[in-house]
Amino acid sequence: MKREQTLGEFELIKRYFRGAALEAAGDQSAIALGIGDDAALLNIPSYRQLVISTDSLVQDTHFPSNCSPDDLGYRALAVAVSDLAAMAARPLAFTLALTLPDVEENWLNDFARGLAEAAQAFQISLIGGDTTRGPLNIGVTVFGDVPCGLGLQRSGAMPGDLLCVGGPLGDGAGGLAVVLGQDMPATLSIADRNYLYQRFWRPRAQCELGQALAGIASAGLDVSDGLLADAGHLASRSGVAVHIWADDLPHSPALGNWTASQRLQWMLGGGDDYVLLFSLPPSHRASLDEWQARGWSVSVIGEIRAGEGVWLDEGAGPQRVGRPAGYNHF
Ligand code: ADP
Ligand code: MG
Repeated sequence: MKREQTLGEFELIKRYFRGAALEAAGDQSAIALGIGDDAALLNIPSYRQLVISTDSLVQDTHFPSNCSPDDLGYRALAVAVSDLAAMAARPLAFTLALTLPDVEENWLNDFARGLAEAAQAFQISLIGGDTTRGPLNIGVTVFGDVPCGLGLQRSGAMPGDLLCVGGPLGDGAGGLAVVLGQDMPATLSIADRNYLYQRFWRPRAQCELGQALAGIASAGLDVSDGLLADAGHLASRSGVAVHIWADDLPHSPALGNWTASQRLQWMLGGGDDYVLLFSLPPSHRASLDEWQARGWSVSVIGEIRAGEGVWLDEGAGPQRVGRPAGYNHF
């Protein structure tokens, strides 16, 4: 960042991004060196593998320009952490590449607060970053670890496996409708509306569930593009057909305010849900009861069969789904 700023880069980092809320969130044993040097150092035991993922959030593409900075800070980290959950990894640390049009202290203060809330929620510490001037852009790289060989991949689903999701679908799209101020059903209560708003801005990356899937689920990923699109990724990477039973898709009570067809469209194609989608060998079916007993709303929504593609059964038999309706930037 340029020298003539009222607040220099070092002062900015010190004021907003240093301190226990961000730097000491979660287990510190992996962090040998954090913010302040040329790079950070992580301790990774030889029996674990490092898991790395990067996400960028660009204004007007990923978030509206008038959004609240604390929501933005939270979401930026939560969506990145969701990729760690999807790999069955334990979150360890993250870096932040922040490009700002100018130094607005209130904005930075609120952004850092939301970021710190997410860091605490997901037990992940800020260990470094970069700060430059330009159009608002937020880049988050997350680091996690997983026992060697147990990282959950998109490949590995086998015919006969159960297809499961870790939580309700469609809330991301319903939340986006709330955030964009679209017309709402008259029956929608303030509580439902708030719930959906929170689901959009504060996704619950499923880290605990993800870690429980290590060595149990045969394949998995997080639902970010939309169920059909993400099921398509699992199908193609695993070389199998994914069958989805429309009547078994779980949704929140809040989504009950919309028509069945709007709801189905959101559950299948909306995206931004950040729940885990995974295949479970039938020999591990009992794990479902265990996870449900822990309060995780895991449910079976279909099955893996031999073949290819994504198939949706709305009651009249499976229909091959054409082009997945997921989000594509290009
Ligand atoms: P360099 O010029 O060597 O890249 P910087 O001046 O960019 O170093 O950064 C100094 C220290 O501050 C580094 O440890 C870096 O990781 C950290 N840092 C820079 N920007 C951020 C940020 N937005 N959030 C957290 N740490 C940051
Ligand atoms: Mg730098």
